[in-house]
Amino acid sequence: MQSALRLDTGKHARQIDASRRIYILSFVSYIAGAVMVLFGFISLDASSLLLPGILFTGGSLFFINILFFHLTKQLDRACQIEAILVAIFVLALIYHGGHNNTALYWAFPFPAILFGLLGVRKALISNGILMLLLGLLLLQPDLLQADYKESEVSRFLASMLIVIIVCWINDHFRERSHEAMSELQKSKDMEANTDPLTQLVNRRYIEANFAQQLHNYPQHYFPLGVVMCDIDHFKDFNDQYGHDVGDEVLKTVADIFRSHLRPQDIACRNGGEEFLLLLPQTGLSQSRAVAEKIRAIMANQPFLFGSIQAPITASFGVTACDEQSEFQAAIKTADQQLYQAKAKGRNQVQ
Ligand code: GH3
Ligand code: MG
Ligand code: MG
Repeated sequence: MQSALRLDTGKHARQIDASRRIYILSFVSYIAGAVMVLFGFISLDASSLLLPGILFTGGSLFFINILFFHLTKQLDRACQIEAILVAIFVLALIYHGGHNNTALYWAFPFPAILFGLLGVRKALISNGILMLLLGLLLLQPDLLQADYKESEVSRFLASMLIVIIVCWINDHFRERSHEAMSELQKSKDMEANTDPLTQLVNRRYIEANFAQQLHNYPQHYFPLGVVMCDIDHFKDFNDQYGHDVGDEVLKTVADIFRSHLRPQDIACRNGGEEFLLLLPQTGLSQSRAVAEKIRAIMANQPFLFGSIQAPITASFGVTACDEQSEFQAAIKTADQQLYQAKAKGRNQVQ
């Protein structure tokens, strides 16, 4: 039987994070792309065509990349391409020097952009590589077409390093705090969907999460066997042995479900001493066979608690459904079948 609840708690957080990256991707592509093309036109009157070339090519590649994202919706790939474009652009611009040797100023936003696009680990590595290449380039003035002052270069490298470290600390703890929040949310959701006595899922899980799973992945579930199980004469058992012993019986029954159902099956404590078993990809006759198996195991295994040894039996109502619109009706049918099983003498499957 399923040991972990299938709760898609992180989905909303992932959507928000994806939106954040889409905003950064769009901002860099559209705004930086447009600014680069504009500066390309402004620098057309310069003696060399290298700067306008860099600016027009960079700007166009940014536009092509955002077009690629809109067409394919491949956010990770588009962000990786964008990061490579950003790095190449920074290196090319610093090599050239930009308008009046002002290229170094334009490099400062890019560490933060890399963190926004790539996530902490990849951004740290790519910023490290970028820093290394910038260092190699700037510390070998002969390699450069630009003409930077020595003091300007050392201060630029030091402040870039500070920017990268601050971005890293910031993003690292932002990511940790999101993880902690989503863990907290997950444990709250687990608690809300689990019956504390038996550790089985509760009815809330079936109505909210399982119904959603049926809707999202019908091919994984239908035909779905629906079995309602109710312990026979449980009130008498409680009256005779006490409520605490009754609780132990409920836990034992939950253990029987856990050990004898398949991993994909779901056992829910429907309330009191009634359980709902949901059997994915199981038709009516197979579901009856499963219910009969569980009935026999319970009937043949007397309940042991201290000096108490007492038989437990249960009655079962079985049905199956083929699509989500039939699910609620199937639960009602299983309930009616259970009523039949009780009426016909208990300890049986109907
Ligand atoms: P039937 O065979 O018709 O199902 O008879 P029953 O006695 O099992 O059914 P009834 O509905 O009359 O009684 C159910 C009992 O289950 C009454 C209630 O006290 C007991 N019960 C419900 N929840 C718990 C629980 O969490 N722990 C214990 N020990 N007993 C519980
Ligand atoms: Mg009962
Ligand atoms: Mg009952």
